[in-house]
Amino acid sequence: MDLNYSAEDEAFRAQVRTFLAENLPADLQEKVRGHLRLAKEDYVRWHKIVAKQGWAAPAWPAEYGGPGWNAVQRHIWEDECARAGTPPILPFGVNMVAPVIMAFGNEAQKAHYLPRILNCDDWWCQGYSEPGSGSDLASLKTTAVRDGEHYIVNGQKTWTTLGQHADMIFCLVRTDPSVRKQEGISFLLIDMKSPGVTVRPIIMLDEEHEVNEVFFDNVKVPVQNLIGQENKGWTYAKYLLGHERTGIAAVGRSKRELLFLKRLALRQQKDGKPLLDDPAFAAKVANIEIELMALEVTVLRTIAQEHQAPGPQASVLKVRGSEIQQMLAELMVEALGPAALPFDPAYLEGESEHAAGGDAEAAPLAAYYFNLRKTSIYGGSNEIQKNIIAQMILGL
Ligand SMILES: Cc1cc2nc3c(=O)[nH]c(=O)nc-3n(C[C@H](O)[C@H](O)[C@H](O)COP(=O)(O)OP(=O)(O)OC[C@H]3O[C@@H](n4cnc5c(N)ncnc54)[C@H](O)[C@@H]3O)c2cc1C
Repeated sequence: MDLNYSAEDEAFRAQVRTFLAENLPADLQEKVRGHLRLAKEDYVRWHKIVAKQGWAAPAWPAEYGGPGWNAVQRHIWEDECARAGTPPILPFGVNMVAPVIMAFGNEAQKAHYLPRILNCDDWWCQGYSEPGSGSDLASLKTTAVRDGEHYIVNGQKTWTTLGQHADMIFCLVRTDPSVRKQEGISFLLIDMKSPGVTVRPIIMLDEEHEVNEVFFDNVKVPVQNLIGQENKGWTYAKYLLGHERTGIAAVGRSKRELLFLKRLALRQQKDGKPLLDDPAFAAKVANIEIELMALEVTVLRTIAQEHQAPGPQASVLKVRGSEIQQMLAELMVEALGPAALPFDPAYLEGESEHAAGGDAEAAPLAAYYFNLRKTSIYGGSNEIQKNIIAQMILGL
C-alpha cells in the first residue's frame, strides 16, 4: 500500500489552499484558531461560501451536487480546512441525515431536502439520545402514533447539539411498542417550528449553550416526513452512525492544535528556558505527535479501502482521535499553569475585545479544555466503541 500523495493529489492540495487563502474570512479564521466560540451566523456564512464553490458536501455523489472527489481528495480538503482554521461544516445535515435520505428516502424527500441541506437553507439537529437511552439507544421511548395523515409525537430528546438554532430535527421514534425494541423504531423528520416542540438549554461545564433538551408534546408530523418504511428506522439509524464516526478522528484539527501547543511551550519559560526545551515536557509533546502520526496513517489506510462501507474500524478512529484531542488540551493547560485559570465568557463569545488576564491566547483555554471532555462521550461513548472493537475486530 502506497501512502504517499501523487502529483495529482498535490496539485489538488494547491488548488484547495488557494481557495482557502482567497475565501476564508479573516474574522472566522481568527475565532477558530483562537479557540473562541462560533455563532450560528459564522457557521452559515462559511457553509454558504463553500456551497457557492460546489464543495460543501465532499462525500455526496455528483448527481446530488457533490464535487465528485475521491476519498484522498476528501481527506486533503478536511486536512487543509483544519490547517487553515475554517469553521466546520456541521455534520447533522450534510453527513448525517443526507446520506440516509439518499439511501432510504423517496424522490420527493430527496428533491426537497437535499438542495436545502447543500446550501444550508435548513439547520438540522440530531434527535437520537433520550434520558436513559444513550448507549442503549434502542430503548428509546419517544412515541409516534399514526392518526390519519399525521403522526402524533410525544416524548423527550436530550443532548441535542445546537438544537436551539435548528429548523429541522431527524428523530428516532417508537412506532410499535409491542415488538423487540429494535424492530419498533422509525426515522422521522420533524419541523422544529411545529406547535408542541419546546427547546430547553443544557449549560455545559464551560458555561456554553451547545446542547439542549427537546420536548415533544402532541406534535403533529405529516406522514410524508417518515423516511423509508415504518419500523425500519433502526437500520437507517445504524447506517447514519457509521458516517458519524468516520469524521470524528479530527486529525487535521489535532495537527493544528499540536502546532499551537508547541508555540505555547516555546513562549512559556521554565528555569529561564522555553518549556519546550524541558525534557519531561518535550517527551509528552513528542508522545502525542507520534500518536497523531499513527492515527493519520490509520485514517489513510481506512481511506484506501474507500469502496467498503465504514465498518468497526471507525470506532478505532473515534477512540484514538478523541483521546488525542483531549491530551492536547490537557497539555495546553499544563503548559500555561496559572495563566490558564481565567474564565472570560464575554471574550469567548466575541463580546469583549480584551481577554481577562490580558493574554488572548491563554484566556480561552480553560473553557476549551472543559469543552473537549465531550469528545469521548458523543457519537457513542469510547467505552461502547471499545466494546465494538473487542467484539467485531478482535473477536473477543
Ligand atoms: C456534548 C454532547 C453532544 C451530544 N450531541 C448529541 C446530539 O446532537 N444528538 C443526540 O442524539 N445525542 C447527542 N449526544 C448524546 C451522546 O450520544 C450520548 O451522551 C452517548 O451516547 C452516551 O449516552 P448517555 O449520555 O446516555 O450515557 P450512558 O449510556 O448512560 O452511559 C453512562 C456511562 O456508562 C458507560 N456505559 C454504558 N453502557 C456501557 C457498556 N455496555 N459497557 C461499558 N460501558 C458502558 C458509558 O460509556 C458512559 O461512560 C451528545 C452528547 C454530548 C456529551
